[in-house]
Amino acid sequence: MKVTSLHEKCGVFGIYCPGEDVARLTFFALFALQHRGQESAGIATTDGKKIQFYGDMGLVSQVFDENSLGQLTGHIAIGHNRYSTTGSSRRINIQPVLLGNGDNCLAIAHNGNIVNSAHLYHELCEQGYSFHTSTDTEVIGDLILSAPATDWVDRIRYAMRRLQGAYSLTIMTKDALYAIRDPWGVRPLCYGSLNGGFVVASESCALDHLGAKLIREIEPGEILRIDHNGVESFREPIRKRALCIFEFIYFARPDSIMNGQLIYPTRQEMGAQLSIEHPVPADSVMGVPDSATAAGIGYAQKANMPYCEGLLKNRYVGRTFIAPDQRIRDIGVQLKFNPLPQVLKGQRMVVVDDSIVRGTTTPKVMNLLRRAGAKEIHMRVCAPPIKYPCFFGVDMATRKELIAAHKSVEEIRQFIGADSLGYLSLDGLLKSINLPHDSFCTACFTGDYPIPVQLEMDKLALENSAF
Ligand code: SF4
Repeated sequence: MKVTSLHEKCGVFGIYCPGEDVARLTFFALFALQHRGQESAGIATTDGKKIQFYGDMGLVSQVFDENSLGQLTGHIAIGHNRYSTTGSSRRINIQPVLLGNGDNCLAIAHNGNIVNSAHLYHELCEQGYSFHTSTDTEVIGDLILSAPATDWVDRIRYAMRRLQGAYSLTIMTKDALYAIRDPWGVRPLCYGSLNGGFVVASESCALDHLGAKLIREIEPGEILRIDHNGVESFREPIRKRALCIFEFIYFARPDSIMNGQLIYPTRQEMGAQLSIEHPVPADSVMGVPDSATAAGIGYAQKANMPYCEGLLKNRYVGRTFIAPDQRIRDIGVQLKFNPLPQVLKGQRMVVVDDSIVRGTTTPKVMNLLRRAGAKEIHMRVCAPPIKYPCFFGVDMATRKELIAAHKSVEEIRQFIGADSLGYLSLDGLLKSINLPHDSFCTACFTGDYPIPVQLEMDKLALENSAF
C-alpha cells in the first residue's frame, strides 16, 4: 500500500428515496460533480437485501449506460467521482468501495485525505484486515468495521475519533445512508430533500440539477443517518473550522453554495480586490476560462475597463490543474484553449487567473496570447503565492514543485513571461469571502496546518532532501 500518495479531490453523493430510480439520479448528480474528479466513477445501490456496485475508469457519461444503470436497483444509492495521483489511478481504486460481508457490510465514498492512514493501516493489518485497494477510503471503512460496537453510528464515531485528516463521506449499509463530515469541515458536504426522500452531495449544484431543495450544509463533526425513520443528526465536537479556501477560489462550481454563500459573486469580489491591490493601465480585462471568468469580470467592473474573451475553452478537455502527470498537462494546455487574435491584437491585457501552482501551465497560456498579438500581458492571480503542499486531499504538488516556494514574485513574473504580476493578498482574499477568517484552511499559503501533519512533513522532507 503506497500511503504517501493517497491524495484525492473527489465528488461524493448519496440518496435515500424509495420509489425513485436512485441509480439514475445518482448518475445525474455525478454528472453535475464531474469537475471534482474525472478519472473514474462508480455507483452502489441497495434494495435492503444486498449491495450492488458498478464503476469504471473514465467520465461519468463514459462509464454508465442504460444497461449498467438498469442493473443498479434499490432505494438507496451512493456515488463517487474520483481524482487521484498517478500511482493510484487504477481500477481497483474506483469508489464506492464495498467492504465486509453479510449484514456487516457497507459501501463507502470519500472526498479528502487521511493524514494518519499509514499508522491506522498497520494497526488494521495487525488485526487481520487485508487491503484490496491503495486508498485511505478502505482504511476508513475497515476502521468502522473494526469498531468495538454494533450500532453503526457508534462505529462511525469510533472511527472519527481515530481519524486525523479531511473526509467528507457517504456511506451506505443495507438499510441506511450516512453522511459524515470531519471535525474540521475541510471538504464540503450538504444535504437536501427530494420527492419525500433525501440527497447528500459534495456541492449544492448537484442538488439543483436534480430539482432537490437544499436544506443545509452538514456541520463539521456531524453524522447524518437517513433511513425509514427520516433524518437524524449526531455530533462529534468541532475541532476547528477549516474549510479549504480553494473551494472558493477554484474547486467548487460557481453556482454552488458554501458556508451559506454563492461562489460566483465571491469570485467577482476577489477580482475587485485584485484591481484595488494591483491596478494597471490597460485596454481590456479577461479571465482564464472558466474558473477565473467571474474574477475577471469583477476586476473589469471595479477598474472600469471592458471585459473580453481572449481565450476560448474547449470544455470537453479535463482541467490541467488536476491532470495526473506533466505529459498530460502539457498536451492539455494546447487542446484546452484557442486564442482570439481579433480580440487580442495590439491590446494591453489584464489576464486574471485563479492560481499559479507549478508555473508550468501559465507560460504556455502567455505564449498563446502573445502569438495572437497581445501587446502587454498583466497577470493577476486570485490567490496568494502557494508555498506549501496540501495534505488534505488536493494533489497540487510537492513543495519542490511549487514555483512560489522557491521563486520571488519578480522571478515568477520573468519565468511566466508577463509584463507585470500581482497576487491577491491573504487579507484581500479573506475580505472577498467575507466570512470569519478562522473558518478556513489557508495552509498552502501560510504553512499553518489546522490538523497536525508532522509525520507527513517528515516524509516529504526526506523525499525533497535534494531541494
Ligand atoms: S492546504 Fe490549501 S488546498 Fe489544502 S485544504 Fe488547506 S487551503 Fe485547501
